[in-house]
Amino acid sequence: MEYDIKIGAGIEMQIADIKKIKNRVKELRKQINYHNYLYYVKDAPEITDFEFDKLFKELKNLELKFPELVTPESPTQRVGEEPSEKFEQVKHSVRLYSLDNANNEEELLDWYNRIKKSYPNEHGIEIVCELKIDGLAVALTYERGIFTQGATRGNGIAGEDITTNLRTIKSIPLRLFDIPDELPETIEVRGEIFMPKNAFDELNQRRREQGEPEFANPRNAGSGSVRQLDPKITAERKLSIFVYGAVAPDFSEGISSTHSGNLEILEKLGFKVNPDTKVCKNIKEALEFCKKWNTDRFKLKYATDGIVVKVNSLKKQQELGFTSRSPRWAIAYKFPPEVILTTLKKVEFSVGRTGAVTPVAVLEPVKLAGTMVSRASLHNADEIERLKLRIGDKVYVKKAAEIIPKVIGVELSQRQEGSESLVYPDKCPSCGHKLERKEGEVINFCPNFMGCKAQIIGRIEHWVSRNAMDIDGVGASLIKQFVEHGLIKDPADLYQLTKESLMELERMADKSAGNVVEGIQASRDRPVGRLINALGIKYVGKETADILGQEYNSIENIKNASFKELENIEGIGEKIADSIINYFKNPDVLEMIDKLEKNGVKLKQDMQKTDKPRPLLNTSFVLTGTLSTMDRKSASDIIKEMGGKVTNSVSKKTSCVIVGESPGSKYDKAVSLGITVLDESQFIELIEKLQAGGIEEVNE
Ligand code: NAD
Repeated sequence: MEYDIKIGAGIEMQIADIKKIKNRVKELRKQINYHNYLYYVKDAPEITDFEFDKLFKELKNLELKFPELVTPESPTQRVGEEPSEKFEQVKHSVRLYSLDNANNEEELLDWYNRIKKSYPNEHGIEIVCELKIDGLAVALTYERGIFTQGATRGNGIAGEDITTNLRTIKSIPLRLFDIPDELPETIEVRGEIFMPKNAFDELNQRRREQGEPEFANPRNAGSGSVRQLDPKITAERKLSIFVYGAVAPDFSEGISSTHSGNLEILEKLGFKVNPDTKVCKNIKEALEFCKKWNTDRFKLKYATDGIVVKVNSLKKQQELGFTSRSPRWAIAYKFPPEVILTTLKKVEFSVGRTGAVTPVAVLEPVKLAGTMVSRASLHNADEIERLKLRIGDKVYVKKAAEIIPKVIGVELSQRQEGSESLVYPDKCPSCGHKLERKEGEVINFCPNFMGCKAQIIGRIEHWVSRNAMDIDGVGASLIKQFVEHGLIKDPADLYQLTKESLMELERMADKSAGNVVEGIQASRDRPVGRLINALGIKYVGKETADILGQEYNSIENIKNASFKELENIEGIGEKIADSIINYFKNPDVLEMIDKLEKNGVKLKQDMQKTDKPRPLLNTSFVLTGTLSTMDRKSASDIIKEMGGKVTNSVSKKTSCVIVGESPGSKYDKAVSLGITVLDESQFIELIEKLQAGGIEEVNE
């Protein structure tokens, strides 16, 4: 009732104010529900967690002030989101909750003191501090030690059945070991699926190159990867898990008497438990732990967004119980935001080795997540359009996966009047050539392959890099000098450089010139896989280059490969095959390859002499479905090591199809063509026999 609402000291409010508050609460709920949906169901948030938490906190404060406005449907009273209809629903045997947040040390102390009040006779309450892994919560069911079901948290009561996808994650044990007698028959293990920072960077890099939208953070990338309808995609995404709890539905005390005891048992059972977990005698120790990880977290290979502090005694946990949304016995201490507000001084457009023109924000230097940041990525024209940036704007900057800074939003309330809008250039900032944009792509390209200095420099920088030709002593500034002085215009020219020509450059002494030439010459016989990577073909990164290197032993063979042949290789799709074909159509590329050969660069691999038997020579395999004991890459590697080929599609020429769980149409095709089909255990049996020398050769 409108008139019942009172402000703190009991002063009756004006009806207009009450209406305003009610409307604000309604508006906040609408916005939070919308963002929850994007975040939990679509894995594609439009705003940052920082901005979301601001909305959530505002609603929580209003509800705290005016409890009459609280409804059971309010997002403050609920966990997560409804499970998506894309998946079967799983009802959790024991409810899953969210966590309450402590945004600073004071709030963490308040939480501890509240708990201490319930135990006035105790000196200190033992607590456990764990890193809060920024991923997706899952519940894993084990029956008699066998992994039988895996589900997302969903709304806490029911989640999505993602068992098949979770089976592809190698750190999730499919069978437990050393099961103690007292372990209940059914246990539900809770943990966080996450994507390591390097895998997140690689995935986004690939998506960027392919013109696909990037994931906002490792959490969304992890969640999006595990909630795929095709388990093959999950398997490729390099996901991992840390488990942090276990419950036994028919065994209310859990599997030990303390939380830390539970973690020890879980580790012995074969689960991955985070090693940086600490049992603290009191809150002082917990605060020290939080402080330490506030800075040390940047050294970790995965993202954390706080510390979860939990009461260690499971009996106490039971006594303290839960609110509608979170346990009272635990709290998440959130690290201070890694989002910071600073001024956008200008935007520079940089031209990469493929000709892609990407905008870079030049910022008023500011300290963020432990380092000074003065430049940040803006990705592409669409991103500039989405942000509606203007020079002089106050912009929010965040470290994506805590590594590369990124502009994520604009504080419109601080915009200067009459500020200058940003114009995406239509000419290349390096060579002035008219830019092109292919349909469906979000990046503008400079098509001046041979004449654009920025591209030339970029290509040579890539050529000398560690994963490519790995040339020591040739860095970015030297390459710039080579190009500026007209000494080279493509990577092949590097091999014509002489000590004398280098001595003409500024500050180049006799000895260092000699070392540079020596370093370059030493790179002439790198493996073909590295050479392919060094060429910098669009969409062909290190992994694809290695696949091509294994499949073909010379540049000539790749150049002559047909689209169909390339597309048929496991790990190479239509887009990559198309890009390879186009690359070798370019006369400038062909000229450079000739020059490489003339300059003594080895374009052909000597077939490795191996004493190992190759019993699968002249056979070709296709893999379909999810394998439970190994991933597809490991299976392919075993086949290739034994001399066999692995291709993407089934044809009359296929020797054998290996079928995992939930196979695709390749299985039906194999059956219709009468091709040998082996399930995983038959495949393993075959390999073991071949390795033991029981079968000498497998005929096609
Ligand atoms: P939460 O992430 O704040 O905390 C609860 C979760 O922490 C648990 O469910 C579990 O998954 C995880 N966790 C990680 N390590 C753990 C450990 N060691 N022990 C126990 N739990 C651990 O809560 P939430 O409800 O999952 O999500 C809320 C968060 O999501 C907010 O911080 C918010 O910023 C973000 N969010 C963002 C948007 C957006 O649009 N940007 C929308 C919705 C939610």
